[in-house]
Order: sequence, then C-alpha cells, then structure tokens
Amino acid sequence: MRIDVLTLFPSLFDSFFQTSILGKAHERGLVDMRAVNFRDYAQNKHQIVDDYPYGGGGGMVLKPEPIFAAAEDLIPNSGTPEAEQKPPRVILMCPQGERYSQGKAEEFAREEHLIFICGHYEGYDERIRANLVTDEISIGDYVLTGGEIPAMAVIDSVVRLLPGVLGNESSAVTDSYSTGWLEHPHYTRPPEFRGWKVPDVLLSGHHENIERWRNRQSLYRTWQRRPDLIDERSLTKEERMWLSEFEAERSQVEQQD
Ligand code: SAM
Repeated sequence: MRIDVLTLFPSLFDSFFQTSILGKAHERGLVDMRAVNFRDYAQNKHQIVDDYPYGGGGGMVLKPEPIFAAAEDLIPNSGTPEAEQKPPRVILMCPQGERYSQGKAEEFAREEHLIFICGHYEGYDERIRANLVTDEISIGDYVLTGGEIPAMAVIDSVVRLLPGVLGNESSAVTDSYSTGWLEHPHYTRPPEFRGWKVPDVLLSGHHENIERWRNRQSLYRTWQRRPDLIDERSLTKEERMWLSEFEAERSQVEQQD
C-alpha cells in the first residue's frame, strides 16, 4: 500500500512514520508512507496557500490550486491508460465528514493507494471537497486545529490491518469492533498482584473453558458499555442465556442499593 499525506506540517509525520509497528512496516516495505508539503505547489511568489473567504467573515480558507496540484502530482499518469488500475482514495480530514469506524479502516486497508488531505485554519475551498475528494472523514464530534492528528489516527488503524504488519495476526481479528463486540479483559503475570487474583479459568490450561469465558466476558463488557453493538437476533442460545444472567445480576445489585 502507498500512503501520501498532504499537509502544511510534514515534519509532524517524521517520527510517526518511523516508530514502532508503523516504522517496522515501512522498513519492511509493507507500506510506503510519505508526507508532502502542499505549500511547495503554491505558484505565487510567497507560496501562499490560504486566502480570505468570499463574502467576509473570520478565518482563512485553503486555496484549491496547491492542493489540486499536489494531489495530481501523486496520482501517476492521471487520466492516461497507464494510470493506476485502482484510482486512489482521496480522503479529506474534516469534522463534518463520516464518523470514522473500524469498518471504514477495513475498507481502506483493501485499497492500494490512499491520499490524505489535512486542513488547517477555517476550512477548505468547497471545490476541493466537490471535485477532488472521494471520502470525507471525521474522527469524532469535536474540532482540532488541523487534520494531521486525525490523519495519523486513520493511518495507524489502517496500517495495522495490512497483511504481515502485526506480529500476531490474530490480534487484529479479535480486537474490539472487529468481532462486532468489545474485546474481553486481559491478564498477564503475576497471578496475584496486591491481593488481586487472575481468574482461575485463565490458569487452568483448559482451552475450551477459556474460550467460553472470554466470549462471555466480551458480551458482558459490550452489554455494559456499548449495548448498541449487540444484535440479539444473531446471538446463540447460550449467549442469550448469558444476557439474562447479566440482567438478573443487575437487578439484584439495584435491589441491594
Ligand atoms: N471550520 C471548520 C468546521 O467548522 O467544520 C473546522 C476547521 S478545523 C479548525 C481545521 C482542520 O482540522 C479541518 O479542516 C480538518 O482538516 C481538521 N479537523 C478538525 N477536527 C477534525 C475532526 N474531528 N476530524 C477530522 N479532521 C478534523
């Protein structure tokens, strides 16, 4: 996969691209990641990339020319027969965009080329949104000063899904949201810490019981924190029974209070 980021602050990506799992993936050639300063594509004398909004009002607006020129430079032979077979996804980081999710990360991880556009200031000239971009992504209902941190969040979540990137492939498969539910709790050595013990079943070596315990915990955690993720119609008989047990425990606690 190739990932390009259009930004006014490419140095923010230096350590991000070189560190930990992303750094190793880059080193091993599993992903090619670059940050491009779109200011370099501004054709005016002072390399100005923003301007006052038509109609007045506060804040500066990113001009279309440098962003179009930078993106088009990254799309090999755009518009010719030699162009990439699969055109890149051009992703605008934007608080008004589609709320980002694990499902979207899985979709992006199937692509060959992603181009991220990081905004700053008040916003973008609308012609960028309308004529260059394939996706608008928000990482949540809050506003940051720029699109770099949102782009990093998306890139990290995509790269860890690429084949060969995670040492233990199964760890991405069992992650929260990948299974549809939140992941079960984890424990490691020591078996007892300050009097808090690891659940006996995890020390038993009985794989079937451990799997069952994890499934039940995963459902419990999801029921407690994100009941909206549980589709009761797709539950097994045993899982439905677990739900009734959780409800019974809850009403017992409420009665005691
Ligand atoms: N005036 C814009 C609005 O109200 O929608 C907000 C602009 S914000 C200060 C500057 C840039 O930060 C945006 O263009 C976008 O690239 C990025 N940004 C801020 N919050 C974001 C979020 N929640 N998700 C994705 N990008 C965000």
